[in-house]
Amino acid sequence: MKKAVVYKLDRWNPDEKIIDQAAEEIRKGHLVAFPTETVYGLGANALDEGAVKRIFLAKGRPQDNPLIVHVATTETAWEIACCDDRALRLMEAFWPGPLTLVMRAKDVVPKVTRGGLDTVAVRMPSHPVALALIEASGVPIAAPSANTSGRPSPTDADAVYEDLGDKIEVVLDGGPTDVGVESTVIDITEGLAVLLRPGGLPVEALENFGETVLLPEDLSREKGATLKKRSPGTRYRHYAPKCKVLLWKAEEDWPDVDGKRVGYMGIRRPPVDLDGDAILFDSLENYARGLFMGLRYLEKRGVEAIVADYPEKRGVGLAIRDRLYRASLAEFDEKP
Ligand code: AMP
Ligand code: MG
Repeated sequence: MKKAVVYKLDRWNPDEKIIDQAAEEIRKGHLVAFPTETVYGLGANALDEGAVKRIFLAKGRPQDNPLIVHVATTETAWEIACCDDRALRLMEAFWPGPLTLVMRAKDVVPKVTRGGLDTVAVRMPSHPVALALIEASGVPIAAPSANTSGRPSPTDADAVYEDLGDKIEVVLDGGPTDVGVESTVIDITEGLAVLLRPGGLPVEALENFGETVLLPEDLSREKGATLKKRSPGTRYRHYAPKCKVLLWKAEEDWPDVDGKRVGYMGIRRPPVDLDGDAILFDSLENYARGLFMGLRYLEKRGVEAIVADYPEKRGVGLAIRDRLYRASLAEFDEKP
């Protein structure tokens, strides 16, 4: 296939003609990568089975891993999911933003989009380019992260191009993303909210809003196993660079690196001098923002392993831990 066409856009004032062109591609069943406030998404018409299948092919994504459907209005969320009062309150409080709600799906949503489940994950992104594209397309847009499955997620257009440049039609370049990690996913289909994936919206924000959020470790073994089925995407090694990732946990010694050339990312200062192979962040938010770009950058510098500071569970730290943990798993490990 031809190489993707890349359009640079002013994120605060995206060129309407380019947005219309990209929207036309979506309506034709083609693939358009676009920035959201979390990471770049690989978009297709969520209601077009053929288009959604192409997302799975382009990413090499397992078919049982459902996609998040992106909307620009709560009315569209109503059209594709069974939204109760509580869902609407959550939408009002946190949308547009990095919160994905898993709700019962309506029949218009093809099975491929839902990974065969009877639920659908829905989110309204806040990035002006994403909102403009969804509005102009006139359809909800299914969009997983715009990377090859298993690789670190893309937080700028270069990373998208690197992974998918010869597999998709268009890349909208709106500059680097703000949040840097994907959305927080909660399942609200039964009673208490179950955290299916920690992400850009801190769990504390949901709790302050009055939600009790169950973490996977709060669930019984049996329920935990059900959770894996409910959120298939949490099962695999993911977000991984080509080299090994080693976690440097609090209260633990610097990992044994066996004489290898290592890179480092994190908030704490490493106890060894790594020159240009070390990336230091001054806050959890900046760590999240630079996490995936840092993994890709250190990989390109040719380090043999990356030591990553395993941050505290507070705020977006929970999402950073999740991504790093899964990046550190051996090739075919499943999360215990
Ligand atoms: P991605 O878009 O690749 O960043 O990942 C989307 C995440 O949302 C994955 O962890 C999916 O398993 C999860 N997800 C999407 N749709 C559903 C759904 N209907 N039920 C449960 N989890 C979902
Ligand atoms: Mg992803």
